[in-house]
Amino acid sequence: MYYDAHCHYSYLKKKYNNFFIAAVSMDYSSSIDTLLLKAENVLVGVGIHPWKVHEENLDKVVDLVKKADFIGEVGLDYRYAKASKELQVKYFETFAELASLQNKLINVHALDAWEDAFNILQKYNVKKAIFHWYTGPEQLLKDIEGAGYFITVNPSVTFQKKHQNIVVKAPLDIILTESDGGYEYKGRMLEPIYIPEAISEISRLKNVKEDEVNKIVERNFMKAFIS
Ligand SMILES: [Zn+2]
Repeated sequence: MYYDAHCHYSYLKKKYNNFFIAAVSMDYSSSIDTLLLKAENVLVGVGIHPWKVHEENLDKVVDLVKKADFIGEVGLDYRYAKASKELQVKYFETFAELASLQNKLINVHALDAWEDAFNILQKYNVKKAIFHWYTGPEQLLKDIEGAGYFITVNPSVTFQKKHQNIVVKAPLDIILTESDGGYEYKGRMLEPIYIPEAISEISRLKNVKEDEVNKIVERNFMKAFIS
């Protein structure tokens, strides 16, 4: 069994048997689709991605949160989002507050906004959070660890130097694996089936056997999503 802590599962019209998947959403319509995917090995999340904030109604998605296992994909993106910083912050704060009130994990996208996203989670006393595809500052890893949060490692770690460096610096206890499936990156459609590549790269970078890495990732996944 492999663990996919961040996958746009509703965009992949396929079944994956040996994967435990946390299915994230981009907007209202994918949130509706994602909720229908709930299964023994699929946890479902609803949210508004920062790239969609400028065109999505917040209240409609807020109403879906109680039906979801977790919140996501939500966050801030200071590089690519069309919405202003202020509007992104408003949406993200709303989801952070809900995560705190409903004791749900929040699956965060924070490109070029890692510290701001972390500070908002702390402001709302969020207990469980994942920083997906973490390529942020090394020094923030200590705060992420201290808060009991996690980061995900994407299969692109096989070639993305910045991501490799994060794996070297981050303790295994905060590392989860993800596919970001449904998203096309550098000409390749990402899918859960590439997660074993991430496991073997983590194993190489940490000098820990693959079996052991997968066991730690499993434990982290359960701690993040199930406890
Ligand atoms: Zn994503």
